Amino acid sequence: MAHSRSLKVCPVKLIDLRSDTVTRPSLAMRHVMANAEVGDDMLGEDPTVNRLEKMVAEMFGREAAVFACSGTQSNQMGVRVHCVPGDELLINETGHISLFEGGAPAALSGVTVRTIAADGGFLDIPNLEGRIRSNDQHFPRTRLLCLENTTNIGGGRVYPLDQLQRVSEWAVAHGLKRHLDGARVFNAMVAGGYSATDLGKCFDTISVCFSKGLGCPMGSMLIGDRDDILKARRVRKIFGGSLRQAGIVAAAAIHALENNVDRLRQDHENAQQLAQGLTGIEGLRCDASLVDSNLVFFEIDSNLGTAVQFCGALREQGILIGPMGGQRMRAVTHLDVSAEDVSQALEVVRSCLAKGLANQTATAGSGPYSK
Ligand SMILES: *Cc1c(COP(=O)(O)O)cnc(C)c1O
Repeated sequence: MAHSRSLKVCPVKLIDLRSDTVTRPSLAMRHVMANAEVGDDMLGEDPTVNRLEKMVAEMFGREAAVFACSGTQSNQMGVRVHCVPGDELLINETGHISLFEGGAPAALSGVTVRTIAADGGFLDIPNLEGRIRSNDQHFPRTRLLCLENTTNIGGGRVYPLDQLQRVSEWAVAHGLKRHLDGARVFNAMVAGGYSATDLGKCFDTISVCFSKGLGCPMGSMLIGDRDDILKARRVRKIFGGSLRQAGIVAAAAIHALENNVDRLRQDHENAQQLAQGLTGIEGLRCDASLVDSNLVFFEIDSNLGTAVQFCGALREQGILIGPMGGQRMRAVTHLDVSAEDVSQALEVVRSCLAKGLANQTATAGSGPYSK
């Protein structure tokens, strides 16, 4: 009832391109959730969680995996497993672990973050050379390398496999542990044409999210070898993330892995369609050749208004896009956005620009919507 009421209040169908986190679990997903076999996961007795952990560990060719509440939690479990207070991690300056996790490496693990500027959210050996501090009491100990795939604020870019392999080898040769923030790693694999086992060989730990393009209401996982994942379980408990009958959400993740991975291709095609459409619109700048996956970043000319103003105008027409500060915006395709929705969004973008933003006030919020 609340649902039909909110529909009346809002006469336009919303097309929500702010993030792939806004998806609602499908009826089929809700069905498997409702029927999930469950037990007390903190006692290791939830059969559905156990099945998911085994399934994901095997998928990545690794010994073990542990379910977590969120990507932030599994990333920070990884940081804590590899580092002790006073250690330092290396990451691209746009990395989620450094930018969007509330200072968690410092707050939870006493770890400092050394950010490195490089295009696309990527890191390669030339970006990393000279960044490992010498063994001297003055310096933090450089301990962990964090990569992100796909990159988020870097542009939804997908690492080529050979780049991951060479950076990974370089890290091992220099005594670094390697963590992959794989919140959108299924998008990366579908777009990059490589497998989970390819990635499993390049990292000590990998975090994945079920709540992004896979369409689950929540859930994440940290994957690695048996000892690291055993440590991670203890860390998860300390971070307040150990759960009881979590099989309800693990069932959603199993359903998503079985049904929602290959279809990410469709999201990528829709993102390409969106990017190419935006490229042709006067007053906007979008480079479709840099759109590798389901994230589309674009800018509005400053003489036409700010991103906040433009997103405010679009919102009034039922199109939700995330302002990223200044002129920059991000639109994200996902399983609740169809190709027709993308065409419709492009039409609204065109008509909004034609009308002009003169009367727009800042209604869309001012911070970057980043997830
Ligand atoms: C979404 C995301 C995460 C996890 O964020 P949560 O808010 O914990 O879901 C981690 N890394 C990247 C790159 C992300 O996009």
